[in-house]
Amino acid sequence: MFSPMCLRFPWLSPPFISTSCRISVPGVPVRETQPPSNFLKDKKVVPQADPPSAEDINHLYQLIDQSTKLVVLTGAGISTECGIPDYRSPNGAYSSGFKPITHQEFVRSIRARRRYWARSYAGWRQFTAAQPGAAHVALASLEQAGRINFMITQNVDRLHHRAGSNPLELHGTVYSVICLDCGFSFCRNLFQDEVKALNPKWAAAIESLDYGNAGSDKSFGMKQRPDGDIEIDEKFWEEDFHIPTCHKCNGVLKPDVVFFGDNVPKERADKAMEVARECDAFLVLGSSVMTMSAFRLVRAAHEAGASTAIVNIGKTRADEFVSLKVNARLGEILPRVLNTGSLSIPALH
Ligand SMILES: [Zn+2]
Repeated sequence: MFSPMCLRFPWLSPPFISTSCRISVPGVPVRETQPPSNFLKDKKVVPQADPPSAEDINHLYQLIDQSTKLVVLTGAGISTECGIPDYRSPNGAYSSGFKPITHQEFVRSIRARRRYWARSYAGWRQFTAAQPGAAHVALASLEQAGRINFMITQNVDRLHHRAGSNPLELHGTVYSVICLDCGFSFCRNLFQDEVKALNPKWAAAIESLDYGNAGSDKSFGMKQRPDGDIEIDEKFWEEDFHIPTCHKCNGVLKPDVVFFGDNVPKERADKAMEVARECDAFLVLGSSVMTMSAFRLVRAAHEAGASTAIVNIGKTRADEFVSLKVNARLGEILPRVLNTGSLSIPALH
């Protein structure tokens, strides 16, 4: 599917020249420009994209460099490069007919909750094994250097946190569980332990799975989903799966994420809107901004006069008005943008 990337990057073995340090990152080693690893090429969840052009790198660099109040919004595209699939890209979950659970289904149906939690429990180990990628690290470096005023993510996977950032999680996180009845929330790992205690046979079966053969009978036909959910044969969950209940009120527990059909909590949405309206540049990374909660932020920034840019493989809902649109993999372009302001700069043509 992918041609050898090393042949397509003329600057992989470039003569380096010195330049002034504009986007410097004190104390943070600048990553060497490296060819994408086999890891990236092997991940079929990452849509195909040409290598970033020198022009795109430079435009993105200019946007970041000229901003004194930069807001960054990240979406699933930044995590696909770490092996977590998204919904809407050409290879995303929607393309194979997947329909994510809605808030209404989850609230209404014990069967839907059982299906969700059984599959989510099964996928947890693999989901949490994903590591932050080059793009997460580049953003954390920019943040540490004081070049990002505020970061928002649509992702629920905490990969930004593990790279050292602390973004506003617009759609919540699967790392917390919350009671629908009283609002009590607690750590997902504790919930996992409770599921295991309530369903010892199920837990033992999951632990014996070979995750390397996703889709096979041996792994129950498993396929991982962006929210940590996993596709799994009905016969393995519908008969006998017990869901823990709230410690405080015995109420219904839900991952602390905004499911489709639900709204972002008002305080969180207001905070995101406030920073979007006040920024001087708004950069969307790895999102098609198809959800209204994300689209309205970039639109508000644009209407307030900020520069707007999107790096995403494929169309986005904001393509018509953003001032810069780049089709590129984030793990390829962001480290290069960072290098542009470092002590050495690739000799671009
Ligand atoms: Zn409760």
